Amino acid sequence: MFSIRHCVKYECCMNGSNNKFEMDGRPTYFCPECLRKLCWNLKQDEKQHLTRVRSFWVNEKNYELVRFYDRSIVAITED
Ligand SMILES: [Zn+2]
Repeated sequence: MFSIRHCVKYECCMNGSNNKFEMDGRPTYFCPECLRKLCWNLKQDEKQHLTRVRSFWVNEKNYELVRFYDRSIVAITED
């Protein structure tokens, strides 16, 4: 997906899966390394990408993921 190999370092939406249980257990977000690869491939700014995904979760009223993206945006800003 997106020219990125399966992720084996972190919990990440790019983790491989051997069955439906593992597939359903993957997070919806990219780890920092896969996010960087994705944005490089798509020529997108990482902070803008995170902000857009955060807006999606605001619309979906998934405030746990909104908080996750809030923390991610702060972390990437401190890089
Ligand atoms: Zn990853």
